[in-house]
Amino acid sequence: MRKTLLTAALAALTFAAFAQENREADSLRYRYGRQQVSATQRKPGTKYADTLDTGNPGVKVVLYSNGTYRYVKDPSVMAADSVFTEFWDTKTVNPYRETPDAIPDRFSIWVVDSLDSYACPNQTTPRSQFGYRHGRRHQGIDLPYPTGTPVPAVFDGKVRISDYIGGYGNLVVIRHANGLETFYAHLSRRDVNSGDWVSAGDIIGLGGSTGRSTGPHLHFETRYKGAAFDPAWLIDFETGTLRHRLFKIRDWYFNPNQRYVQKVDDEDEIFRTDEEDRILAEEQAKKEAEARAAAEAAAMRYHTVRSGDTLSAIARKYHTSVREICRLNGIKETTILSIGRRLRVR
Ligand SMILES: [Zn+2]
Repeated sequence: MRKTLLTAALAALTFAAFAQENREADSLRYRYGRQQVSATQRKPGTKYADTLDTGNPGVKVVLYSNGTYRYVKDPSVMAADSVFTEFWDTKTVNPYRETPDAIPDRFSIWVVDSLDSYACPNQTTPRSQFGYRHGRRHQGIDLPYPTGTPVPAVFDGKVRISDYIGGYGNLVVIRHANGLETFYAHLSRRDVNSGDWVSAGDIIGLGGSTGRSTGPHLHFETRYKGAAFDPAWLIDFETGTLRHRLFKIRDWYFNPNQRYVQKVDDEDEIFRTDEEDRILAEEQAKKEAEARAAAEAAAMRYHTVRSGDTLSAIARKYHTSVREICRLNGIKETTILSIGRRLRVR
């Protein structure tokens, strides 16, 4: 049982490393013939070899010719998701006809899961914050962004708007599977079209100063069902890190003047749902399994069998027992050791 858990955890770690490696090299659209964003984003020489089904009909394993693999969401399943069909409009900034009352008082969404990732637009001190400014509502955050600097998609998703829209100038809006939308405005160039599927980190355009702007910067918004909230609830721009994987949203985040506040909130514990408890417990168990697997991997030692070696001599040398060596290598005390064989001794 323990071994199975470790094997699974090691596989997860290995997968994480491969996923990272392949992050730039691919995205759903290459395998499934969707529109390419930019040919330069594909790492040359990485080819798809095969696709395998998993237990989940929405998830496939893509194998690469270089021996690496990655889990991807099947776009045909994703495309059928109502998130990408309802209130879908390629021209209107806020296509949701729901009233703000439709948003629950408190709810949680997954920002990234094991298949989705995140890319920070720019690790920097924001130039202008969310909230009212000179009597005007500011629905996003302004990040210093020199003209021509590539702008990445922050999360995986589908481009809803890529257009020149009034004060926004060149605007790209991406909708994500969890219902969130991210806005990227004042771009000098747009490199995506409405309907494109993008992965976190894909370049969607270049920074600029188009529209109502007093100088090059990226105006970045996060919205849920059309309602903007301070992106700082989600992203710590100073460090470039995501604050949450499971993001708990309160209705008052959507108050137009509500900036992010660092808080220690006991309510969180009181109002946590069973589902959130279950998810958090799973996360914790996964982290612990990964830590155990990593510790075990770090402690591994090997011995290469030389002429004259015996199991008991090897056991003495590494301060372990014959039984333990047999267990680690799946051999018997009577197994003949061939010269050059690598034995795990720890
Ligand atoms: Zn702005």
